[in-house]
Amino acid sequence: MSVPNPNHDELPIFLERFAGKSFERCRYSERRFSQPYERCNICYRMISERPHQEAVSTGFVVRLLVGENSSWPQWEWVCEDCFEQFQGSAGWSVLPEGVSVGGPERGLGEVQQLDPNLCGM
Ligand SMILES: [Zn+2]
Repeated sequence: MSVPNPNHDELPIFLERFAGKSFERCRYSERRFSQPYERCNICYRMISERPHQEAVSTGFVVRLLVGENSSWPQWEWVCEDCFEQFQGSAGWSVLPEGVSVGGPERGLGEVQQLDPNLCGM
């Protein structure tokens, strides 16, 4: 298990940008997230549904809307270890079970009702 490195350059930016946001705890799905894997924004651990030596299969995901009229979301991930470590200082919360940050399978309309402040940019 790798130890998160809290000193990398982009971490303060990430923590500030996503302060107070709500994350969904979920199992990685290639179908839902359209990529073979993502990486934890803090420790860069691979998060994937494929068996891989360094990968974990679950994490916390938050949605980033790129541009006001963007209909396609971008996802940012934090692994479970890092989430636990930074949740308090970053003010992160976890969406109740069954509530989703959205995805192609779930419908974007549903998402917008959940958290209008989610990564509003
Ligand atoms: Zn991590």
